[in-house]
Amino acid sequence: RIVYLNGEWLPEGEAKVSIFDRGFLFADAIYEVTAVIGGKLIDYPGHAARLKRSLGELGITSPIDADSLLEVHRQIVARNNLGEGLIYMQISRGPADRDFAFPANPTPTITLFTQEKAILSNPKLETGISVITVPDLRWARRDIKTVQLLYPSMAKTEAMRQNAEDAWLVEDGFVTEASSANAHIVTKEGKLITRSLSTAILHGITRASILDLAHAAGVPTEERAFTPQEAKDAAEAFITSATSFVMPVTRIDGQPVGAGKPGPVTQRLRAAYIEDRCANAI
Ligand code: PLP
Repeated sequence: RIVYLNGEWLPEGEAKVSIFDRGFLFADAIYEVTAVIGGKLIDYPGHAARLKRSLGELGITSPIDADSLLEVHRQIVARNNLGEGLIYMQISRGPADRDFAFPANPTPTITLFTQEKAILSNPKLETGISVITVPDLRWARRDIKTVQLLYPSMAKTEAMRQNAEDAWLVEDGFVTEASSANAHIVTKEGKLITRSLSTAILHGITRASILDLAHAAGVPTEERAFTPQEAKDAAEAFITSATSFVMPVTRIDGQPVGAGKPGPVTQRLRAAYIEDRCANAI
């Protein structure tokens, strides 16, 4: 692969970052992941807006302007001949002597790489995925998309150890989100329930799109927290993220959700997302 590092295009083996980089030492870095379908960027404006917000929350000055960043996204797709998959972009505060206090004038490190992934024909779509519930032990600013991902990695690894595909994180009795996706349920009355925005969850770009598309399709929605038990008793459940779009959840802690197979509202919303967002890809 050809990757991007601080203004340079390099073969992946030649891209080197300092061991003093604060992204490496403190997870002092933020990231975005954008899906690519047919060589085009899906929901890019949302990702660009959230990137700006994450940088602002941490006081990291962007090393690149918005137009150039879009151009770099386009070029990395072209240089790697990427049809379907994702672009990972990370900006760290940059290298500095190791000190907890932020350095005065750091030079941020920006890097991008691509990964191929079957998003439209993900084999898990047929059955949906199984999730386990685990306590949400992450830090309390999950609205900032930092690379501090150790706990979600532990949770997902534990899920896979238990023959599930993902973990839903639970705090104060309510589901916050999945390890790397937002969590949603559909009630027996056909209403889409998803947790409201706060510092407790990442403000998913796909979540926002799905809410818009649900409104357009006449699917009633309510933004509120739900418990694992309510999810297990729901008609349908699903997760949303840039790299899964809408993925049905058909088992929670071993218990089937609804009929135990991907539900009609979930499938309708997935189809609407693909139709609308692929048509508007840039
Ligand atoms: N929640 C968490 C914790 C995530 O890591 C992600 C994506 O990686 C999401 C939600 C979904 O966000 P998006 O739809 O913007 O990819």
